[in-house]
Amino acid sequence: MTGLPFRIGLGYDVHRLARGESLVLGGVSIPSDVGTVAHSDGDVLLHAICDALLGAAALGDIGEHFPDTDEQYRDVSSIELLRRCIALLDEHGWRAGNLDAMLMLERPKILPHKHEMRSRIAEAMQLPLDHISLKATTGEGIGFVGRGAGIEAQAVVLLLPKD
Ligand code: MG
Repeated sequence: MTGLPFRIGLGYDVHRLARGESLVLGGVSIPSDVGTVAHSDGDVLLHAICDALLGAAALGDIGEHFPDTDEQYRDVSSIELLRRCIALLDEHGWRAGNLDAMLMLERPKILPHKHEMRSRIAEAMQLPLDHISLKATTGEGIGFVGRGAGIEAQAVVLLLPKD
């Protein structure tokens, strides 16, 4: 940790949607007739956030740290992975500053669950709620998001040196 007074990281993830799967976004189980197809809990939002955190510290990506070929990560809670990313950053002298994240999905509506998602993320990232921004948009009926075939998530984080 030398040179820059802060670091910026970008994260992106996508998961396919299918009937009969569960939908977990931002650590919250959301009632839905479709859910994400994944080895883990398929929390596309938290995966993008983890990648942004790891990326800011140049510590690789979520697939390197928690490979989906490893049975110990089958159906793992992505909130636990987020906590582990924060712990890893701590070991390297960094703490999260703020988060801005974006979900792109056709349905279900995110707004009724947004506060709980932000709260869970804030707790895992050890940040106040007003340092966690979450936005959502639809795919306007076009592309794989618009057809309801998948969910996309993007995240940007700032890292600051520990005191
Ligand atoms: Mg993923």
